[in-house]
Amino acid sequence: MELPIIWNEDVNTIKGHLDDEARWKRPDLAPGTAAWCKGSEDDIATLNFVCPCGCTEVGTVPVKPGYGAHWQWDGDLVAPTLTPSILRCRPQSCGWHGFVTEGKFVTC
Ligand SMILES: [Zn+2]
Repeated sequence: MELPIIWNEDVNTIKGHLDDEARWKRPDLAPGTAAWCKGSEDDIATLNFVCPCGCTEVGTVPVKPGYGAHWQWDGDLVAPTLTPSILRCRPQSCGWHGFVTEGKFVTC
């Protein structure tokens, strides 16, 4: 399954959708909605996204070097490619596994 990223800065707004297990959920946004989040130095630190599987949980993928583990990012703001794959581990998350490739979530 491929799902094009829907860019929407609103993903970065926490609107009181933490559930009983403190998961950050955005049921008001479509699966695959995403936004870049800047760090303290005003450069891009993470990609925040509403999980493409439909579980409504927001995931965060760090892309900035220098702060520990991070994904490789090709620098494309609109049609990014991140490597390696993203795994949203069970049981904390839904288990979605896939890639961000050329601006799309691609489920494995
Ligand atoms: Zn999910």
